[in-house]
Amino acid sequence: MGERTILVWFRNDLRIHDNEILLEATRKADRVLPVYCFDPFYFKTTSYGSLKTGNFRARFLIESVADLRQTLRAQGAELIVRIGDPAEIIPQLAEQYQVNEVYHHREVAFEETDISAKVEAALWKIKLNLKHFIGHTLYHKEDLPFPIKDIPDVFTIFRKKVERDSDIRPCFETPAQINVPEIDDAGQIPTLQDMGLFDPIDDQRAVMRFTGGETEGLKHIQEYFWETDRLKTYKTTRNGLLGAAYSSKFSPWLSMGSLSIRQVYWEVKRYEQERGANDSTYWLIFELLWRDYFRFMFKKYGNQFFKVGGFKGEAPSVANNQDELFEKWKTGQTGVPFIDANMRELNATGFMSNRGRQNTASFLVKDLKVDWTKGAAYFEEKLIDYSPASNWGNWAYVAGVGNDPRENRHFNVIKQAAEYDPKGEYVKTWIPELLHIPGKQVHTPFFLTPSESALYNIEPGVTYPNLIIKPLWTNLNDKNATLFS
Ligand SMILES: Cc1cc2nc3c(=O)[nH]c(=O)nc-3n(C[C@H](O)[C@H](O)[C@H](O)COP(=O)(O)OP(=O)(O)OC[C@H]3O[C@@H](n4cnc5c(N)ncnc54)[C@H](O)[C@@H]3O)c2cc1C
Repeated sequence: MGERTILVWFRNDLRIHDNEILLEATRKADRVLPVYCFDPFYFKTTSYGSLKTGNFRARFLIESVADLRQTLRAQGAELIVRIGDPAEIIPQLAEQYQVNEVYHHREVAFEETDISAKVEAALWKIKLNLKHFIGHTLYHKEDLPFPIKDIPDVFTIFRKKVERDSDIRPCFETPAQINVPEIDDAGQIPTLQDMGLFDPIDDQRAVMRFTGGETEGLKHIQEYFWETDRLKTYKTTRNGLLGAAYSSKFSPWLSMGSLSIRQVYWEVKRYEQERGANDSTYWLIFELLWRDYFRFMFKKYGNQFFKVGGFKGEAPSVANNQDELFEKWKTGQTGVPFIDANMRELNATGFMSNRGRQNTASFLVKDLKVDWTKGAAYFEEKLIDYSPASNWGNWAYVAGVGNDPRENRHFNVIKQAAEYDPKGEYVKTWIPELLHIPGKQVHTPFFLTPSESALYNIEPGVTYPNLIIKPLWTNLNDKNATLFS
C-alpha cells in the first residue's frame, strides 16, 4: 500500500487545539493536507438586501485564517488557501495531491450542510469519502440523554437533564507534528478588497478590538480568567454595556472555532479548582449551554428557524410601514435612545452586548412590528460573532416563534434602559447629542419641555429624532410612571 493522505477541510474550526479532525488525520495518514476555502457564497448580498458578511467579521475571518496558517507552519505544516466553491476546489485538490479521504466538522444550519452535501457528492464522483465529525458543541451529540428529535423545546428541561445525565468529554490533544505533502502553491489569503469590502474603521468606543485567530483567543482566555480574574464576578457584571470587562467576549472566537467551547469549559473547571467555584463560574457554563441548545434545536427543526413562522408556523403581525420603520431601527434613529445607542454601537463596531441584543430585537418585533427575519438578516451581516444557530435561534425566541413560549417576553425598553444604564453613560457614549440631559432623563428625551430642551441644547426632531411610534410600554402622559414604576 502506498502512502496515505487525508485532506482536512477547515471551516468554522480554525484552530489546532482540541481539533479532532486534525488529530485524527495525523494519526490515520502519513500526510495531511490542510485546506481553507474562502467561499464567495458568504460574501453575497442576501435576498434581504444585506450582506452575508460585513467588514468587521470578514476582517476577523481573514485574521483567523492567517493565524491558522502561522500556527500550522510552526508545526512544520502549511495551510492551502483558495477562493472559490468548495465543491470544485476540494475535489480538485484531492486529485492533485492523491488524497485518500476528506475530513470536516459537520455544521447544523441548512446553508452550511448544503455546502458539505455538495462537496460530498462531488467527492463521490471521484470515489472519495467525506468523513463527518462532531466538534462544535460542549456536549457531544451522542452523549445526550435523548435523541435529537426528543430534545425538549424548553431550555430549562433540556439543561437540567443534560447536567444530571451527561458528561463533557476531555479535549483532544494538539498534534505534535503534522506532515504535509510538498505544496507548491499554498495560495494567498485574500484581502477585504478582494471580497468587495473595505477596511472597517476602529471606533475608540468599541468594547475591545477583536483580533481573529486561535493565538488571540487563547490569550483572551488567559487574560479574562487568570490575569484579570473577571470570571469571579461574571454573574453580576454580565449584563453590562460598556468596556471589555462586563462579559467574557469569547463569542467571536467561539463562532469561528478559534476557541473550542470544551477548552473554555475545562478552563472554568481548572479555575474552580485553583481559585474556587461560585455562582459566576457556574453561570458562564450555563450561558455556554444556550449555545449548545440552539445548535441542537437546529438539528431538530432544520431550516424552520429561518422562516417567519419559526417552528410554530405562525408569523407575528407586521406594520404597514415596516420598511420605513426598519430603516430607522437599522440606523439608530427611532427616538428611543437606548435602542439607537445599541444600533449605533453595532454599526460602528460589529458588537453589541447581550442586553442590547435582547432589547433591540424585542423593540423591532414587538413595538415596531417589523418582520423579525429582516432584523436577524441585518445582525447576520453586522455581528462579528455571527453564528447561524445562535443568531436565528435567539431571534426566533424573542419573536415568540422559537423556543420556550412560556418565557415569551416583551421588554419595556425604557425600564430596561433605566435599570441597566442608570446614569445614562452608555447612551451618552453612543449619542453624544444627548450629553447634557441629566441622569435617567436621558432615556426619555420625548418628555423634555421646550425650556428643558433649550437648556440641554437639544432641538427635538433636528439634533435627535422624535419618537417614530407611540410605544406600547410608555405612558406618554406620565413620565414618572414610565421611568420609575
Ligand atoms: C437577537 C440575538 C442575536 C444573537 N446572535 C448571536 C450570534 O450570532 N452569535 C453568538 O455567539 N451569540 C449571539 N447571541 C447571544 C449573546 O448575545 C452573545 O453570545 C453574547 O452577547 C456574546 O458576548 P460574550 O461572549 O461576552 O457573552 P458571555 O455573556 O460572556 O457568554 C459566554 C458565551 O456563552 C454563549 N452565549 C451566551 N448567551 C447566549 C445566548 N443567548 N445564545 C447562545 N449563546 C449564548 C456565547 O458563546 C458566549 O460567548 C444573540 C443574542 C440575541 C438576543
